[in-house]
Amino acid sequence: MNRFAQKLTENSISVRRTRSEILQVNVGKLCNLTCVHCHVNAGPRRKEIMTRETIDRVIDWLAKTEIPVVDLTGGAPEMIPDFRYFIDRVKALHPSRHVIDRCNLTILLEPGYEDLPEFLARHKVEIIASMPCYTPENVNAQRGEGVFEASIAALQLLNQLSYGVVGDMPLHLVYNPVGAFLPGPQAEMEADFKRELFSHFGIVFNKLYTITNLPIGRFAAYLRHNDKLDEYMDMLINAFNPATIDGLMCRNTISVGWRGEVYDCDFNQQLGLQWKNGGPIFLWDVEPHKIDNREITTGNHCFGCTAGAGSSCGGAIV
Ligand code: SF4
Ligand code: SF4
Repeated sequence: MNRFAQKLTENSISVRRTRSEILQVNVGKLCNLTCVHCHVNAGPRRKEIMTRETIDRVIDWLAKTEIPVVDLTGGAPEMIPDFRYFIDRVKALHPSRHVIDRCNLTILLEPGYEDLPEFLARHKVEIIASMPCYTPENVNAQRGEGVFEASIAALQLLNQLSYGVVGDMPLHLVYNPVGAFLPGPQAEMEADFKRELFSHFGIVFNKLYTITNLPIGRFAAYLRHNDKLDEYMDMLINAFNPATIDGLMCRNTISVGWRGEVYDCDFNQQLGLQWKNGGPIFLWDVEPHKIDNREITTGNHCFGCTAGAGSSCGGAIV
């Protein structure tokens, strides 16, 4: 039994799925950046991307469900050749579904993507954008030289398209700590980000989501390299907060990989913890009404979601 499962047993808690509300699709590991904290190990040389055939199978499956939200992530999801095709097909469903694009901002300024912001705006795709700080030093240290300046320019462009300005054009930012510590209080950080980004750059946005770095992928390698992995794990374990369990994203999200394989969350995906039933399970093997109450596969990395105020794709949990 892993330490997280042990902790749940000690607290008489079990983690099971509830009704599926979000289909989160990781369309691949291709990205224009190579951030220090990346749990996907994404980068410009990665070849894993979702094909059109797999997209069609995912959408055909989605059409038979009532899942209202499709959350696209990567890598930089916009870089797969069929990104727009994916969104066009989701939006053509009856009923149509809400689409989220987890965007690193800089991709919006890359050559070849000039009309992408308008495309996203036209489809009213919600944008959840990475922005680890409102100062250049921290952002460039975590995400690479020049990323802060590009992110600011992209946010200004999105504001011009009414993102973060009108109600049905949501623009949320994601903060990850730039180092081996937990995020600060979300509401306070949101107020700081809003004040600083508006006063220096005239930028507005809706919400700030604080997300804890999980000790996997490139961030685990960074911790190991700096001899901080054990210390970081101990900090997460000591900050275990049982009140976060009900809000864990793995309870209402189905996570799908670039080949259509199914996981409890994007972190389990990166660790290869695919759903199994004798053999590996793909999305098209899943009967949506039969997975409510399914047990969730946990590991020591799960302490990253339950530490302090908790952490999910929608930010702090409590
Ligand atoms: S954290 Fe996001 S933007 Fe950075 S390398 Fe990973 S997928 Fe790309
Ligand atoms: S990493 Fe977080 S979201 Fe994933 S299974 Fe563990 S607790 Fe759930």
